[in-house]
Amino acid sequence: MKLNIFQKGFNYSQDGPGNRLIYHLSGCNMRCPWCSNPEGLKPSAGSPYTVEELTGEVLRSSMLFFDGGGLTLTGGEFSLQLPAASALLASVHGSGIDTCVETNGTAPALQTVFPSLDHLIIDVKHYDENRLSAVCGAGLKNTLSNLACALDLKMDVLIRIPLIGGFNASPEDAARFAELFCSLDVPGHARVEVLKYHEFGKDKYQKLGLPYTMTEEAFISTECFHTFRDILVSHGIEPATT
Ligand code: SF4
Repeated sequence: MKLNIFQKGFNYSQDGPGNRLIYHLSGCNMRCPWCSNPEGLKPSAGSPYTVEELTGEVLRSSMLFFDGGGLTLTGGEFSLQLPAASALLASVHGSGIDTCVETNGTAPALQTVFPSLDHLIIDVKHYDENRLSAVCGAGLKNTLSNLACALDLKMDVLIRIPLIGGFNASPEDAARFAELFCSLDVPGHARVEVLKYHEFGKDKYQKLGLPYTMTEEAFISTECFHTFRDILVSHGIEPATT
């Protein structure tokens, strides 16, 4: 079994706790116009590695997993390669290494990897199925059922919202997110991280000859950011920062 990976490297604290080896798996079923990794969205991007090769690399790196670190699979969307990713996570987790995935949550079979995970980072980009689907190309239903399952299992869950002006960042939007999270029993059981829009990927679009369609409207002010977070907090939702 092989995994296509378009980027590998270590990162501290932004993709799970501690110092982590990050594998960016190729392919994504969504097309968020602000995506900062457009070079990895095709399933064929990057290079193939066997699960055995990768397991060996992770185990050899274990001395570097300080401060609670370990392996994180991200992307793209790691779950497009679910069978091989599951095998890698099971083998690494079985060897006592801390494991995490970052996901858009849309894979119907995502829950099959939960027994091999120490942390789940899941994007909830919008509270409205139709709006999310229209802008990003996939809906919300599977993400919410996977999130509900993870909460039910009392997993360590971090929910991420990329805050995009004109899409999901108004006080009304914050109230709708809060309503959704309260209905899922998020308060007290998962943290929510709000990330301000940035255009770190913009140059990549130019290099790839792809149009970058985001406008100035997408940037949000520090005041908007704090207002949004404060509304979540006022509903008992624990904020997270990295
Ligand atoms: S889900 Fe993530 S990787 Fe996929 S297009 Fe959106 S931002 Fe990019």
